[in-house]
Amino acid sequence: MRVTEDLEELRESRRSLRGSFGLVPTMGALHEGHASLVGRAREECDAVGVSIFVNPAQFGPGEDLGAYPRPIGRDLEMLESLGADLVWTPAAASLYPPGYQTWVTVEEITRPLEGGCRPGHFRGVATVVAKLFNAFTPDRAYFGQKDAQQVAVIRRMVRDLDFPLEVVVCPTVREPDGLALSSRNAYLGAEERRAAAVLHRALAAARALYDAGERAGEALRAAMREELRSEPLAREEYVSVADPETLLELDRVESGGLLSLAARIGRTRLIDNLTLEGRGR
Ligand code: AMP
Repeated sequence: MRVTEDLEELRESRRSLRGSFGLVPTMGALHEGHASLVGRAREECDAVGVSIFVNPAQFGPGEDLGAYPRPIGRDLEMLESLGADLVWTPAAASLYPPGYQTWVTVEEITRPLEGGCRPGHFRGVATVVAKLFNAFTPDRAYFGQKDAQQVAVIRRMVRDLDFPLEVVVCPTVREPDGLALSSRNAYLGAEERRAAAVLHRALAAARALYDAGERAGEALRAAMREELRSEPLAREEYVSVADPETLLELDRVESGGLLSLAARIGRTRLIDNLTLEGRGR
């Protein structure tokens, strides 16, 4: 496994790899969710690259950029054991040197949900992912369904900017109580960790209603709100029942939908989602 901070070294190593190449972009503090992406890339590609970069451009003022966990030694051990071929760990100052002024802005679909709560977040995400695509020139890039809006934004960017690669989306890996794995779960105290399972319970409550025949978006949103309110340590930021492509809120769910929510558990902000399958009529 080659590990480098340097872009030129990365490009040289990349050129020496033959066959199909899969990229897994991460911010490090790796867990089984990330491992599932690397494992899928390993199955589908001849060589696998991983980036570890806590991207300052996607954090707003007052967010957790400084506190974000950076256990680089443990991450590299894990990637070695998963069979990654190439790891890039660039410094922020080399990706965004003084004078940097070029940004990728995906428009409509970055406005609701996470974009509404975190202005500028997806400009940072789209820009860094475009730079990662240019650096690694992957044939496939692997992302988690856990960040559903991010997937929609990257897919849109890949189509709009003609990146010659396939976006592969992997299912959300969860703890036994349903909590989606996230590097941010490390911020939770024991009581908060218990309380955090309410996010998945809220999504599951809405999906159960849907499975029982409910199609009104507002009824599904109300079910999520009610479940979140039942947990005193949780504070809702949004609940949503949206079209999975446009991310616009649905009055009625007729041909599939995306249930998503964001909540604070104490000071930790968590997100999660589930998809509703459309049933052919
Ligand atoms: P991050 O390091 O949080 O930027 O995540 C890197 C990639 O891993 C993103 O594509 C995430 O969607 C994905 N990911 C994070 N958590 C999970 C999870 N629990 N299950 C599956 N994929 C995940």
